[in-house]
Amino acid sequence: MDIEDLRLAVYEQFLRGETPRVADLATKLSTTQEQARSGLATLAAGRHVALGLDGEITMAHPFTAVPLGFSVMGRDTLWWGGCAWDSFALPHLLPEQGPMLVATTCPACDQAHAWRVDNREPPAGDQVAHFLVPAARMWDDVVYTCGNQRIFCSEDCVATWLDRSGRQRGYVMDLPTLWRLASGWYTGRLERGYIRREPSAAADYLRGIGLAGTFWGLS
Ligand SMILES: [Zn+2]
Ligand SMILES: [Zn+2]
Repeated sequence: MDIEDLRLAVYEQFLRGETPRVADLATKLSTTQEQARSGLATLAAGRHVALGLDGEITMAHPFTAVPLGFSVMGRDTLWWGGCAWDSFALPHLLPEQGPMLVATTCPACDQAHAWRVDNREPPAGDQVAHFLVPAARMWDDVVYTCGNQRIFCSEDCVATWLDRSGRQRGYVMDLPTLWRLASGWYTGRLERGYIRREPSAAADYLRGIGLAGTFWGLS
C-alpha cells in the first residue's frame, strides 16, 4: 500500500463529509486493517493525521472527525469544523463549496456566532479568536490544541473564560487576521505529493500574516 494513496483516501472521505475509518480505508485500498493501521501510524508520525487511542482518525487538518466547537456548512456538504483556524480554512481549500456558513458559540457566555466565509475577503465581525497553546507545543496534543482555538464575542469574554478556567492567556487576533492565517496554510494538502512546509517557510508565512512573538516561536 502506497502511503500517499492512504493519505489521499483519508482526505477524499473527509471531502465528502464522511469520517474515514480504518476498516473502510483498508477495503478501499485493497489491503488489511493491520496494514492500514500501520500506514496511519506513519502518517501520524509525520503530523498528517492525528489518531485516537483506538487507532481511528480524529483529525486530518483542516478536517476533524470529532466535534471541536464549530460546524461548517458548504454548498452541499456539512463538516465538523476543526478549530477556528481550520474552520476558516475550509472556504479557502474548497472555494467551489463557498461561501460557507461557519458557526460556533462563545466559550465564555454561550452566545451563538455565525459568519458566511469565502476566499475573497474576511467576513465582517468584531469577534476575536483566542489560541491557547503556543506554536511549539501545538502537536503535544493537537486535539486539545484545536479544541482551544476558539472565537469569543470580545476580549472581555476571553478574559472571563481565562479567569474562570485558571488558564494563561495565549494569543488573541481579530477575524481578518484569522482569515488571512487560514487562507494559505493548507494549500496543496489535497494534492498528490503534498509535502509539509519546512519550519523556516512556516515562520515566513506566519510573519507575512503579521504574527509575532514567542507564542508563534517568532522573534
Ligand atoms: Zn486546528
Ligand atoms: Zn461571549
